[in-house]
Amino acid sequence: MRVQAVVFDLFNTLTAPVEDGEFKASVRAIAAAAGMDPEAFTQRWFDLWRERFDGRSGSIEADLRGVCEAMDGEADETAIRRAVEIRVEFSRRTLRPRGDAVATLRRLRRMGLRTALLSNCSADVPDLWPSSPYAGLIDEPLFSCVEGLVKPDSDFYRRACERLGVGPAACIYVGDGGNHELTGAARVGMRAVLIRTPATRAATYDSERSSWRGEAIDTLSEIPELIGAGS
Ligand SMILES: [Mg+2]
Repeated sequence: MRVQAVVFDLFNTLTAPVEDGEFKASVRAIAAAAGMDPEAFTQRWFDLWRERFDGRSGSIEADLRGVCEAMDGEADETAIRRAVEIRVEFSRRTLRPRGDAVATLRRLRRMGLRTALLSNCSADVPDLWPSSPYAGLIDEPLFSCVEGLVKPDSDFYRRACERLGVGPAACIYVGDGGNHELTGAARVGMRAVLIRTPATRAATYDSERSSWRGEAIDTLSEIPELIGAGS
């Protein structure tokens, strides 16, 4: 079947991979600003990822407050506000594109392909999206915290197809393998492709980065070639 659309993961796929140390340091900085014990806060932060991604809290501020409450801690308004600022600034930095992301998105558009984003993310990300380098370059951005669906839920992929007006068999899915997203894409009938990331990037949130045996690429610039090869 002819490829009509490319569905992208966001973090470490379109964005430049972030080192594990930098990622964890940002969580510790948020904890410090909120006046919480960094180690215990980090543990809770990772434990409560689903609450952040599925949109039930409604805001990054509520997410941070939820982590503090889960630790039986109390953070005052000023401390939470400062913690939110640090988090949003980190999210803004992590939206920095891979070197070839913008050029590849433009090229795909020139080739007549439709594009979607399927991101498991917290509420700060859709807020930052319109001022990000990708705004206007992705036809259909879908955020887990807005849709109330989280990868690898099949309905999340199907919703992307509905928005694109393209069936799954005509879609290529590209991701770094977080949350078993490649298996999820393949399950609905998309052609799933791993984009490799450096080993120093920690495999957080159920990554299948090391176990994936399907197609794989090292750069986004390889996607146009893939499309030719697979059709
Ligand atoms: Mg990712």
